[in-house]
Order: sequence, then C-alpha cells, then structure tokens
Amino acid sequence: MSSDHAANVSDRRVAPGIPDTGEVERLVEAARLACDSKAPEYLAAAEAALEAARALRRREPSKSAWALEGAALVEAGDARRRSGQLRGALEVLERALGLAREAPEDSWGPAAWLGNAHHRIGIVHDSAGDPPGAIAAFGLALEEHRRSGDGTGMARVQNSLGIVYSRSGRYPEAIDHFEASLAHAVRNGHHVREAAVLTNLSIATRLLGRAEDSLNYAERSLVLRRETQPEAVNGELTNLALSLAAAGEHERAEAAFVEGERAHEEFGEPLDLAEHLRFYAEYLLDRGREAEVLAPLERALALAEAGGALGQQAAAQAVLARYWKRVGDHARALEHFESFHEREIAAERAAAARELEAQRWQAELALARAEAAAEKREREALVMLYDSLVHDHRDLEGRAAQLELDASLDALTSLANRRLFDLRLREAVDRSARTRHPCALVVIDLDRFKSVNDGFGHAAGDEVLRGVATVLSKRLRASDLAARLGGEEFAVLLPGADLARGVEVAHELRSLIASSSWPAMDPALRVTASLGVASSDEVGFVPGALMALADERLYLAKGLGRDRVEPARGA
Ligand code: GH3
Ligand code: MG
Ligand code: MG
Repeated sequence: MSSDHAANVSDRRVAPGIPDTGEVERLVEAARLACDSKAPEYLAAAEAALEAARALRRREPSKSAWALEGAALVEAGDARRRSGQLRGALEVLERALGLAREAPEDSWGPAAWLGNAHHRIGIVHDSAGDPPGAIAAFGLALEEHRRSGDGTGMARVQNSLGIVYSRSGRYPEAIDHFEASLAHAVRNGHHVREAAVLTNLSIATRLLGRAEDSLNYAERSLVLRRETQPEAVNGELTNLALSLAAAGEHERAEAAFVEGERAHEEFGEPLDLAEHLRFYAEYLLDRGREAEVLAPLERALALAEAGGALGQQAAAQAVLARYWKRVGDHARALEHFESFHEREIAAERAAAARELEAQRWQAELALARAEAAAEKREREALVMLYDSLVHDHRDLEGRAAQLELDASLDALTSLANRRLFDLRLREAVDRSARTRHPCALVVIDLDRFKSVNDGFGHAAGDEVLRGVATVLSKRLRASDLAARLGGEEFAVLLPGADLARGVEVAHELRSLIASSSWPAMDPALRVTASLGVASSDEVGFVPGALMALADERLYLAKGLGRDRVEPARGA
C-alpha cells in the first residue's frame, strides 16, 4: 500500500503546471499516508506535496491554501527526520510555526497545523537524544491540540510522551500517557494507533516486570495490526516474541521470532531486523541453544555495522562476549567484551555530541523565533501607529471643538474662565426669567491672598488657587458651574437655587475652604475667603445687575471682617 502511494506521488511530481486545491489536498493526504513507508518514499511524497502547496498559496492565498501549506510543511519536516536530517527537519517545522504566525487569523482555525508542528518538533528532539526538549515541545503540542479541540492530535502526542518517558526509564508515567492515548484510540476506532499504543504499553509493562500484562497487550496489538496493516506486523512480532519469552511461553516465543524475522526481511528497515536478530540470539543463548546463536548474531552485527549504528554494534558485541564465555573461549570473550566497551564509549560520545548539537539548533531556532516575534511586534506597532493617525485625522473636528473649549477654560485651574462664565450666566438668568425659577450666584474672593504669595511665593499661591478650584468642583452638582473670574476671584452659578439655597451653599464652600490644609506649604497655613450671594429674582432677572449685587455683598463681607458670607444665614 505504502509503496503504491509513493509511486503515485512521484508521477504527479513531474506533472507540469500549478495543481488545483483538490490536487494539492490529495498530495498532502498521500504524504500523510506515506509516513509508514520507507524513509525515501515518505520524503519524496512530502516534498512533492510541499512544492504543490507552496505554488498554490502563491497563486491563490485562500484559507485552504494556507492550511495545506502548513500541513505539507509538517509532513516535509517529519520526512526529513525519518531520513536522518534532524536539523533540516527542525528548520522546516520551524517554518510551519512561522507560517502559523503569518497566517490571516481565520485561515487556519481549528484544523491548525500548529499542534502537529510542535509534535513533530518534539519527535526530532527525541531522536536527537534530547528528552527535555522533546517533553517541552510535546507540552506545547498538547496545548495547541486542546485549544483547537483536536482529541486525535492529543492522543498522538500522549503516545509520544509515553515513548519519551519510557526511554528515560520512567515507566509508570509512560504507562499513564499510553493509557490516555489508548482510551482515545479505542473510543474513536483508530485501530492503527491502538495497535501502536498497545505495543508501547506491552514494552513498558514488560520492563516493569509485569509479564502477563505485557503479553496481553502484545497479543491485542498483533491482532489489530494484522487486521489493519498486515504488511507492518514486524515490530509487533518482535515485541510479542519478547513478551512470550518473558512469560515463559517458549514454543510460541520461538514461532514469533521466526515469523518476525521473515516479516522484517520483507517489510522492515535493516536496523530493525538487526535488533530483532540480536534479541533472538540472546533468547537462544538464555535457552541454552548455543549452537544456534552465532548465525543470527553475526548477521545482526553486520547489519549494525553497515548501518553505522554504534549502539547496536555494541549490543551485539556484548552478546557475542557472553556467547564465547559460555562456550569456554575466554580469549575471544575478552576480545568481544573490549569491542563492546569501545563501541559503547563511542556510541555514548556520539549521543552526547548529538545532544549538544540538538541543543545548539534549539538555541539557534529559539533566537530566530524571538527575532520573528520582535519583527511581528514591530509590524504591530506600525499598524497601531497607522490606526492612530487615521483616528487622529477623523478626530480633527473633535479636536477643533476641544480647542474652542480650551479657549473657555482657565489654564491654571481648568475651571470655566470669565468668558464662558459670562455666557452661561446670561443664559441661566434668561432662562430663569422665562421659567420664573430663581438662579443664585456666589462670588468668592480669597482673603489677604497677597500675603500667601508674599509668604510662600507665587507658585505656592497658584497651588492654593488650584486647591480652591478642586474644593468648588467637588462640592457642586452637574448643573452648577464654577469659574475663576480672574486673580483670586471665583464664582459659582447655581441654576434653580433661590437666595436662601445660595447662602447655604456659600456657607458650605466657605467652611470647606477654611478647613482645607496646605501641608506642602505650611501645615499651619489657613486660607479663607469672603463670599457674596445674590439671586436673579432680586434684580429683575438682569445678569449684569445680579453680578453687581453679589459683588457688593462680597465687599460687605470683606468689610465685616472676612471669612464670611453675605447675606449671612437667616438674614
Ligand atoms: P483681600 O482680598 O482679602 O482684601 O486681600 P488680597 O490680598 O486678596 O487682595 P488683593 O486683591 O489686593 O490682592 C490679590 C492678590 O492676588 C494680588 C496678586 O498677587 C494675587 N494674585 C492674583 N492672581 C494670581 C495668580 O494667578 N496667582 C497667584 N499666585 N497670585 C495671584
Ligand atoms: Mg481680589
Ligand atoms: Mg482677595
């Protein structure tokens, strides 16, 4: 099945012209399915899909074109990893993340490739011998899949997490993840993944010494694999053989080893066959069948050497050493033991170098990612600047109104200035004439304000003026208006208030001013004011006359000793 796919894909690859969306979809799907094929076929399928998807998005950047290119990048990255190009894999997968950042918001939505890209990045780290890097990337993948409600994606990631924990010897954690993944596969009828997870569970439980559980999982897994992917049963057969051996079922173990060897020959990768043969040789040695050990073992060693797999070479040498010791040839045993030792050291060194290398790529890519993020922030800042320019432009009329308002406000206190106050006073008195509702006016002059300036300086005097303005604003209602008429003179307009009400308010204001403290100057400083009150109905609703009467009363208050209101309450 898999090789058919690859042939298909290669044919399409040479077809000229830009494929349409349907065709790109087929190519991406073919690449996805080819992931179970041999590495070169998978790579060819994925590269073909990527090429087509890229051309499609260049021609028509539709929603699906973005998503297809993202999906194709994920497959291309994974295919490179399968071909041993770990760095290239990370670069391509990083491009998938970059594409997600660039993509218009609605063009990738819930079918996000982002989770898949993080997942494959984790697998690359795992392949590079960097479990912490893998676990971190798997964490991001889980988060993305959860966000987009992709339960299948989550189940795949959990299987991968299980594998990493398993390889780090953390079997109980591995089993937890495998079980979560298995439950999802069973619920959703994903038999291929169910088979894979069952095998993983079988391995982890066997390594924990739970031989019966391990055998149970191994058997279920093989049954499923035979039903769904009869050509890919080699791994399941190796595992079943080992579980049977651990459970002491030797006849069936033997049969599984033999059948597994045939399946590996036919469908598997050479290094998987090498591992299978070594397991078989070890099993034969454990069973005391020395005469049969050498043939599979030497073949395993040759395959491992051909594949440049140092770890596998070391493992085969170790079994060879045991074999020669068992048959009494200590000189040869020592020779193989030394080879084992050398290769193991070399393998460890290579693994350490790979891990360092992977960490270096990771750092480089993190840097690139940070740069891309910074670029994005800059872009966003520009967009914001543009928006605010547009906004400012639209707001010019509003700003003109603001300018006019500024012309009506007192710069020091932000109260209304004399100009605005006179205008409002006229309007209020006119309205009061029409409605026959009185309108009260309070004028306020600070007492001996010259001495505040003289004693504390002009700036302190300004501070007091601002403070008095605050007192007035806080006390008044929305319909009232306070103004600074000039110097240390203020006024308050109280529409709807008669003289008695105006006097009442004036008393409150006097008392609030007198009780204010000015700690920034002198905690002992007291500022007082004299207030004159008049009401429109007293002066025949003539604005100028209202102001004159209030002023007259203010000067009366000054004359009567300051810090007081005229007319006094109840007068
Ligand atoms: P009284 O009203 O109690 O008779 O005494 P006064 O000292 O307040 O009277 P006068 O009107 O003679 O003096 C007002 C002072 O207010 C004079 C001026 O220095 C001060 N003044 C006027 N405008 C400002 C201002 O904007 N800032 C400051 N700090 N002082 C001002
Ligand atoms: Mg004055
Ligand atoms: Mg004064």
